[in-house]
Amino acid sequence: MAKQRTFVETALLILCGIGLGMTVAWFTAQAFQLRVGQEELRRYGVHVLGNAEGIAKEARAIAEAVDTDNLPFCSDQELAFLRRTVFYSLNMKELGRSKDGKLYCTTSQGRLAEPFQSHAVPDAVDGNVRFYAFTPLAIAPGAAGMVIANPDVSFAINPEAFKDRYDSPPMIYTVLFYARDSRRTFYALGHRQPLTDEEVMAQQMVERSSVFYQPLCSSTYRICVVVAEPRAAMLVLRNHKSQIALRMAIGAMLGGLIPLTLILFFSRQRTFARQLRRALRRGELSVAYQPIVDLDTRAIVGAEALARWTNGANEDVPPTLFIDAAERSGFIYEITRFVLSRVVEEVDDLMRRDHFRVNVNITMQDLGDPNFFAHLRQCIETARIDPGALSLELTERSTGDRDTATEAISRLRASGHKVYIDDFGTGYSSLAYLHELAADAIKIDRAFTATVGTQAVTASVVPQILDMASQLELEVVVEGIESERQVEYFSEAGGAILGQGWLFGEPVPAMQFKRQFRTALQ
Ligand code: C2E
Ligand code: MG
Ligand code: MG
Repeated sequence: MAKQRTFVETALLILCGIGLGMTVAWFTAQAFQLRVGQEELRRYGVHVLGNAEGIAKEARAIAEAVDTDNLPFCSDQELAFLRRTVFYSLNMKELGRSKDGKLYCTTSQGRLAEPFQSHAVPDAVDGNVRFYAFTPLAIAPGAAGMVIANPDVSFAINPEAFKDRYDSPPMIYTVLFYARDSRRTFYALGHRQPLTDEEVMAQQMVERSSVFYQPLCSSTYRICVVVAEPRAAMLVLRNHKSQIALRMAIGAMLGGLIPLTLILFFSRQRTFARQLRRALRRGELSVAYQPIVDLDTRAIVGAEALARWTNGANEDVPPTLFIDAAERSGFIYEITRFVLSRVVEEVDDLMRRDHFRVNVNITMQDLGDPNFFAHLRQCIETARIDPGALSLELTERSTGDRDTATEAISRLRASGHKVYIDDFGTGYSSLAYLHELAADAIKIDRAFTATVGTQAVTASVVPQILDMASQLELEVVVEGIESERQVEYFSEAGGAILGQGWLFGEPVPAMQFKRQFRTALQ
């Protein structure tokens, strides 16, 4: 039943991951599509602007040619010249000649019987040039187009000129003229658009009511264009289904893999913790003892009890691994109780000797266990040993919670035990904090021991630690002594320093430790 539930939970989690992955992929695909769409819209704008500039350039050239044609005003020769010009022009629909705002002749109507004065309100006026957008053409009634009325020459520009070449639905364009002085824009051709003059001049893409607008202005002519495309069209038309499907498939895979990996990781942790508890029941755990010696006399004055786990496959599991797992799974106290019981069973005879101490490692979790102190007292009473013969090591890292640590240390000391701050130098506590903790001793971490005699920065801290310890009257145990050079260094540092390390002996089972102890006594 429980298994079935776990399976359902796992499947649900993976499905959620897949769903999440696909959603994220879908949104990123959409964002990507929009970016591509916006880039295409901008390119379209560049085309439209280029085309508009081409028209403006042609208009300017024609105006110049007509102004300097040296032909009699509105004569047959001039009309023939204007008609030829319109015929060869790509964009001009109509040309006419005017004077003082009155039109005298046009290419379609020849010489007018009455000079024509347009009363239409121009859409834009810039200097003495007037623009008419889509007004009935003054110079050619019935025709539609844009009229540029110069003082001397009028043009009717074919609006199709824009459409034919670059019409690219669903993108649409607007052509605007702008007056340089006032920086105002005037609608000329194409679709109306909602941007303000400032927005057009800024030439930045703007989204308004789910439509993207890209304004672009010419640096040569007084022309701006605004191209536009609705967001929806941008998404639908560039919907490269295969790409989106690929992205969503990758998203689904990643989304599914992440919870799967997490589940595997945590279930591994859980199985590891379960294996460890089983190991405790099956008696796969044992205790090893490593000698602690007086650095001056080299006499063994105590031992540290270290938990060992030899699993079913006869492999030694590193304590850092299983202690960590037990701590995280919240049952470290089971190991601590086991080690305490084992110690008073195995080496109680040594502990009854004068000045011999066994150190047991504990954690803050143990101190939070309501039965810890009771179990400790019971061990001591059953073995009939002095509490002073059983010291406790608390890692510096675990003393982060000052108040709890200080209170627990004082309670242990009140019960007659000595308290060691283990792995000193690797945690967060400053040397000053050591004073507050009011422990009996510190164990200098082996990382520091290894740097003795080297240029490492940490090496320079060692004298400071020793100095502080002596001021606070703390006993010092140096961990990880592997060479005579290190013994020499710490012996010379003065004070009664103790040492522990492979140079004096590795952690070994109780029987072996006792043999070593007896040999050393002889
Ligand atoms: P620790 O309390 O600092 O124990 C000293 C560690 O240094 C031991 O590792 C020991 O084998 C190793 N060591 C001793 N001398 C030398 C040396 O000269 N050179 C080097 N490189 N290493 C040396 P071990 O047994 O692997 O234990 C690792 C840690 O696991 C211990 O560090 C301790 O924090 C924890 N631990 C071990 N047993 C227990 C236990 O019963 N309860 C708790 N709470 N923690 C334990
Ligand atoms: Mg220790
Ligand atoms: Mg240590």
